[in-house]
Amino acid sequence: MTSAPRALPAVGSVIERAAIRALAERWTTPMVTDAVRAIIAAARTGSPLPSDDTAWVAAIDARLTEQTRPSLRAAINATGVVLHTNLGRAPLARAALAAIGEIAHGASTLEYDAERGVRGSRHTHCARLLCELTGAEDAIVVNNCAAGLVLALQALAAGRETVVSRGELVEIGGSFRVPEIMTASGTTLVEVGTTNRTHADDYRRALSPRTAAIVKVHRSNFVIEGFTAEASVRDLRPIASEAGVPLIHDFGSGLMLDLSAWGLTGERTVPETVREGATLIIMSGDKLMGGPQAGIVLGTREAIGALRRHPLARALRVDKLTLAALEATLALYRDPVRARREIPALAMLTETPEVIRARVVAIADAITAATGTAVAIEPCEATVGGGAFPTARIPSFAVTIAADAPSLEAGLRHGAIPVVGRIADGRLWLDLRSVLPEDDEVLVQMLLQALQPGVR
Ligand SMILES: *Cc1c(COP(=O)(O)O)cnc(C)c1O
Repeated sequence: MTSAPRALPAVGSVIERAAIRALAERWTTPMVTDAVRAIIAAARTGSPLPSDDTAWVAAIDARLTEQTRPSLRAAINATGVVLHTNLGRAPLARAALAAIGEIAHGASTLEYDAERGVRGSRHTHCARLLCELTGAEDAIVVNNCAAGLVLALQALAAGRETVVSRGELVEIGGSFRVPEIMTASGTTLVEVGTTNRTHADDYRRALSPRTAAIVKVHRSNFVIEGFTAEASVRDLRPIASEAGVPLIHDFGSGLMLDLSAWGLTGERTVPETVREGATLIIMSGDKLMGGPQAGIVLGTREAIGALRRHPLARALRVDKLTLAALEATLALYRDPVRARREIPALAMLTETPEVIRARVVAIADAITAATGTAVAIEPCEATVGGGAFPTARIPSFAVTIAADAPSLEAGLRHGAIPVVGRIADGRLWLDLRSVLPEDDEVLVQMLLQALQPGVR
């Protein structure tokens, strides 16, 4: 049996109603008209038609709210991967947020030397602080670690050869492939050694009058075990200096503090890496350093000077907001205790499992009390992410929900503030180690909305 076609209202008759006309204050008349048209069109294919003015207003509001949502918006990372590249890597410290606000608000000394009243250089801003904290001679900040490598190779090795181990021609995160970036930087790769073993002598034999640089890449996101050998920066330093070429170290993570007391062992800190003596050391600002997206290049005055003078430095430079956030983040490292507490990435990685468990219990209680949904509190293992400490498993706790896990997972992703968890063993897992404590309340609200879609 088919039902008789419903009589649909005309667009004009709907938008004439006082309640609907009033919506033009929040939106615009054309937006409201379009929404009404779309709702009527949807009713033609079976969607319910709003029954009264209140329902019309709600439907129009819902439609326009959805339509005007920014594409880039806040989310909650409950994956347990603390530095999640797809979710924006390191959250910024309060000090960094304040610095961004202050510098974004008005004019700044971006390229102005206020003391002397003359033009200054944006490249000076974080350089002194980076040198103070790491022991490097000089520093330059660019767009990201990849940009740092491109600039270093363009400035020092374009048109000539760069020697690199086959064991280090790796892919790190989406679309960063060492061999491709190097080739795109205008240098000719000379691969030495094998996937599992490369010796200092392999580098020595590859040197020629065309050699411009030796590159050492930190493998970052995987480990190789068994019959392996690699030449360290210390092994390579004499080879590079005999050949009179720079040794470029793509170091990646930017770890500033020793976290071994928290079970995170096996990665060198930036100051330790600087002491190893590569000519240039390149790292990300938004991994373990816990700052904004940036590429930090540390090195000798001569090499950094060459990078600063290269035309590409202009194309790869960072904006004032990045410099403000980076300088404020770096300043926290003057007091390591404060840095570990106030830089969110470090606070998340070093929080005790007991504190995380207490947060999980509070969330589970709130959900059960409001909805009666069965929520379990489960131990789990978080990871660092961002291509650092790839094998580290950090004890953590998760809220897990078994009922209708796939649709709940989707519901959470579709919320006003997407919550990203993971499905395992047929349950939804929300690992609290990668969630900022101040987001717990929002997480509860989003969970309630996803569990009871009708209720607001
Ligand atoms: C993460 C990483 C990169 C890429 O860093 P971006 O800042 O994302 O460009 C390059 N090299 C190493 C060794 C890394 O760990």
